[in-house]
Amino acid sequence: MTLAKKARHGNILSINAKVARNINRAIILNSIRERQPISRAKISELTKLNKSTVSSIVASLIAEDLIIEEPDHNRGVGRNPINLRVKRGKHYVGAIYFDSTKTELAVIDMDGTIISSTEIKTEMGNPSGFVSLCIEKLNAMRGQFHPHHFRGIGVTVAGIVDAAQSKVVYAPNLGWQDLDLGQVVRQHAPNIEMVTVENDAKASALAELLLGTHRVNPNNVVFLSVGAGIGAGIVVDNHILSGGSHAAGEFGHMTIVEGGEQCTCGNQGCWEVYASDRATIRRYAAGKNLHQDQSANISLANIIEFAKHGDTVAREALTKSAQYIGLGIANIIRSFDPEVIIIGGTITQAWNVIYPEIMETVNKRGFFGKQRNTAILPTSLTANPPLLGAAALSIRKIFTDYRIAL
Ligand SMILES: [Zn+2]
Repeated sequence: MTLAKKARHGNILSINAKVARNINRAIILNSIRERQPISRAKISELTKLNKSTVSSIVASLIAEDLIIEEPDHNRGVGRNPINLRVKRGKHYVGAIYFDSTKTELAVIDMDGTIISSTEIKTEMGNPSGFVSLCIEKLNAMRGQFHPHHFRGIGVTVAGIVDAAQSKVVYAPNLGWQDLDLGQVVRQHAPNIEMVTVENDAKASALAELLLGTHRVNPNNVVFLSVGAGIGAGIVVDNHILSGGSHAAGEFGHMTIVEGGEQCTCGNQGCWEVYASDRATIRRYAAGKNLHQDQSANISLANIIEFAKHGDTVAREALTKSAQYIGLGIANIIRSFDPEVIIIGGTITQAWNVIYPEIMETVNKRGFFGKQRNTAILPTSLTANPPLLGAAALSIRKIFTDYRIAL
């Protein structure tokens, strides 16, 4: 073998060894996060990695301050095994969710715990000035708890995002188009190593898988985000589907009523015109004969509250939206045959009202007479999914060691 060939061969081996170690590192770190507290022996048993690999990687994770050891005092007499946990209070990430009317900001720990959060009115005209304000606020919030920089800042946007380039392709409700949002954030946060930008529904899917408690199989899951509009994160074989023009999952604009009502996108009869929060509010206002200025102050949360207190118009507004949600879900099931569809958004707070309607509509559209077995669940996330999604963008990178590209 010539020297050149030897060198090349050696290089490939060392790259492969690094990749393999990085994959094992992510597997071990994730098993600690999911099952903590957990012993090295248990990790070895669960992951099928040999004990020396587990010990070596655990030692480096402790050296990186990502995990801690703690004695297991619950094991009675004899030798106390040492358990491992994700280290809290050390690695904070900044999360920003830009929505059309409000922007949410949070300081979030590596295990998904919200340390501090706030919301401000979204200013659309001057993205750089507004991002600067958001970073300033985030840093002030973090400074109350933690002296060090954020490990990363994750940003989610209600719009079409090219995540690989950190660019907003089109966010009509924010008035942003072809905006290099990642670059704008980096300008105002030059010390941050990781800046990640993603569509809100896609990042919500990531948050559900990374920080949620449903323990679903990430081979085929759809996270459906129902808010002012409707979008989805489609997870296939452990990957969030991006699409050829970064617009996979924009189900809100699939036609559900031919020649139906006008949508903001320019088409007619789009799903979100019938099933979004705005549709529910509009239906309620029509049922109560409210003027536009009266209905402007009513939120979906109000309508859910009214329905709980026996307001039949409020309840009907919710059940009608739920039927339309079910109609769209039946189409999604045809497209992707997901094992699970997880729904996020304020409307899930009325789950006992909407779930039976959704299921009835879905079941009416049985496939060749076969009973569907797609599970439909409300999000298990305890905070707004797109905000946790923004955090999950950075947390995922910490867990998979962003310094080594796979
Ligand atoms: Zn539309």
